[in-house]
Amino acid sequence: MARIELRGLAHAYRPNPKTGADYALKPMEHVWEDGGAYALLGPSGCGKTTLLNIISGLLVPSEGQVLFDGRDVTRLPPQERNIAQVFQFPVIYDTMSVFDNLAFPLRNRKVAEKEVRARVEEVADMLELSADLGRRARGLTADQKQKISLGRGLVRSDVAAILFDEPLTVIDPQLKWLLRRKLKQIHERFRLSLIYVTHDQNEALTFAQQVVVMHDGQVMQLGTPQQLFEVPAHTFVGYFIGSPGMNFLPCRFEGGSAVVDDIRIPLAREVLDHAPRHGVPLEIGIRPEHLRVSASQGNGALPAEIASVEDLGNFKIVTAKLGRHRLKAKLDEDAPVPAERGWLTFPPDRTRLYADGRLVA
Ligand code: ADP
Ligand code: MG
Repeated sequence: MARIELRGLAHAYRPNPKTGADYALKPMEHVWEDGGAYALLGPSGCGKTTLLNIISGLLVPSEGQVLFDGRDVTRLPPQERNIAQVFQFPVIYDTMSVFDNLAFPLRNRKVAEKEVRARVEEVADMLELSADLGRRARGLTADQKQKISLGRGLVRSDVAAILFDEPLTVIDPQLKWLLRRKLKQIHERFRLSLIYVTHDQNEALTFAQQVVVMHDGQVMQLGTPQQLFEVPAHTFVGYFIGSPGMNFLPCRFEGGSAVVDDIRIPLAREVLDHAPRHGVPLEIGIRPEHLRVSASQGNGALPAEIASVEDLGNFKIVTAKLGRHRLKAKLDEDAPVPAERGWLTFPPDRTRLYADGRLVA
């Protein structure tokens, strides 16, 4: 296992005649600590696969360095990096047995046959493939083939890290859930360094201790699922994490408080102290889970029009109009919802301020 560090890392697949580079990855500094289970989460096209391929050595970055435990590996080929990678679609040998497929990464490294057997049986047991070890891979279902791919990623105990690139895409939802739990257990048992790429926030948030959120070739935030939810470092993270995402309202400063149109929104003292007073666009952010909606006027509540209520089984989404802005609130299924008009409360400790997209204080 290894600590993986990116120094000034950037990648452009092709030069841009105007700007010099057309970055798929913008210059970044980042550290993946040894033994961590990380999810790498971001929308399609944000650069996740590019980053994984640079870490595994399939791609040489156009700028910067990759270090494993302080050693520069930027130009080392994949086979000299000690990385296991599992891709979106199964990569297995159809004509070989399941056993031989799982044994392949070990035999390739001249591991003694006795140990090969022990490791293969252990991994097969974890992935519930034991009964299929003697079968030829060709006749298996897509789910089973992808399980073998996962097994091939997990079978070596000496790797610096295991990289998963959306490995459960082709897997049936029920099995997906099981495999995600298995991976988590395997990580807890062996303390492997894992980087798990996904565009699915539920997958990332349940699997990982630490989530790296990427957007447009940049790392936007590294945090626990709770940190990403409670204190998104950037408006993108607020919007991307959560369902529905965070509400944002453009605001300005007047007489020491944040004002949306002519409506004053209370903010915490430390936010007010750090808020830039001019020069940058400001936005108030509040999670639908934190915005309170009630039928009666409480302290600091703001009058709003109730535009719609969606009942989603175990919760409700209320869309409220505050002046010309629409806000979403997420309420328990049995919470009372005022008809037509109601009152909104922004709890100051849950209300964030963003300057030019970045969190203030
Ligand atoms: P993700 O895995 O997050 O979907 P990728 O790393 O595959 O994103 O892609 C990042 C960006 O780089 C995208 O704009 C994509 O079109 C571009 N890209 C990816 N692979 C290549 C390639 N081989 N040649 C040129 N552009 C590429
Ligand atoms: Mg990808």
